[in-house]
Amino acid sequence: MGTGHERLVGRRRFLVQAGRGALGIAILGVAAACGSSDGDDAAGDTADNAGTAAPSTAAPDSEAPSSATQESSAPAGALAWSRVNLGFVAAYVLVRGNEAAVVDTGVSGSEDAIGQVLDKAGPGWAGVRHVVLTHKHGDHAGSISEVLEAAPRASGYLGTDDLSAVEAPRKLTAIDDGDEVFGLQIVGSPGHTLGHMAVFDADTGVLLAGDALGNNGGLSGSNPQFTEDEAKARASVAKLARLQPSTILVGHGPPITSGAAAQLDRLADSL
Ligand SMILES: [Zn+2]
Repeated sequence: MGTGHERLVGRRRFLVQAGRGALGIAILGVAAACGSSDGDDAAGDTADNAGTAAPSTAAPDSEAPSSATQESSAPAGALAWSRVNLGFVAAYVLVRGNEAAVVDTGVSGSEDAIGQVLDKAGPGWAGVRHVVLTHKHGDHAGSISEVLEAAPRASGYLGTDDLSAVEAPRKLTAIDDGDEVFGLQIVGSPGHTLGHMAVFDADTGVLLAGDALGNNGGLSGSNPQFTEDEAKARASVAKLARLQPSTILVGHGPPITSGAAAQLDRLADSL
C-alpha cells in the first residue's frame, strides 16, 4: 500500500473495516488517477471526470484505472451513465432524456452521493423512475430505503431469488432473466447470489455487471469469498461474455471502456 494522500485515510480505514483490504490498492489507484478532479474527498465522493467512451490515451489495458471513465457522453436520446464513487463500491446513474434509473444503492448512507450525481447528470431525484438492485448484499442494497424515499416516483427491482433478503419502504418488483426495465435488458447472472441480475443496454453495449464481475487489478469473476454458487458464477461470466459489451461497469473497481468484450472473452475462457 502506498503512502497515499491524507484525504484517503478515511477511505482506507473503511476498507480495512470492511475486511477487504486487498481492494484498497485498486481504490487508491482510482483516487490517484482522479487526483486532478475537484470533488474527490473521502466521504461519498462523486465521479466527476467527464470523459467519453472512446479509447483514450490513458490506461492502455485493463490493469490501470483510467481517469476518463467515470461518465459517458451520449447523443440525445441514448443512454448516458455516471458512476457514483462510494469508496470500495460504486452505484450507477443511467440517464435517458429527463429520466433516470439508479443501479445499486451502496452501503447505508449513500443517498447523498447518489443524489449529487443525479443532480449533475440532470434529472435529479425527481427524474428517477427505476431503482434496480443487482443483488441483495448490503453494499449494494444498503441505501434502498433512503433512495426510494428520495425518489417517490421510482419503482424498485430485485432478482426473485434475492427478494426476501431486502426490506424496502414499498414493495420491490421481482425481476428475472429476460425482463426489461427502462429499455434495458435484465440478465440473470446467478452465482454471486442466486438472484443476481446484470443490466445491459443493447444500444450502447453498456453492461452493469454488479458483482458477477469485478475489476480490482484486472477483470475477474465473482469474488469467491462472497459467492454462493461457484459453478453458476462461472457460467454467468460466460453468459455475460456472449453479450460482447463495449463497456463494463462493476460494483467493485473502475469501469472498463476499452477492449471490454475481448477482456471478458479472455476471462470466460480462463474459468
Ligand atoms: Zn455482492
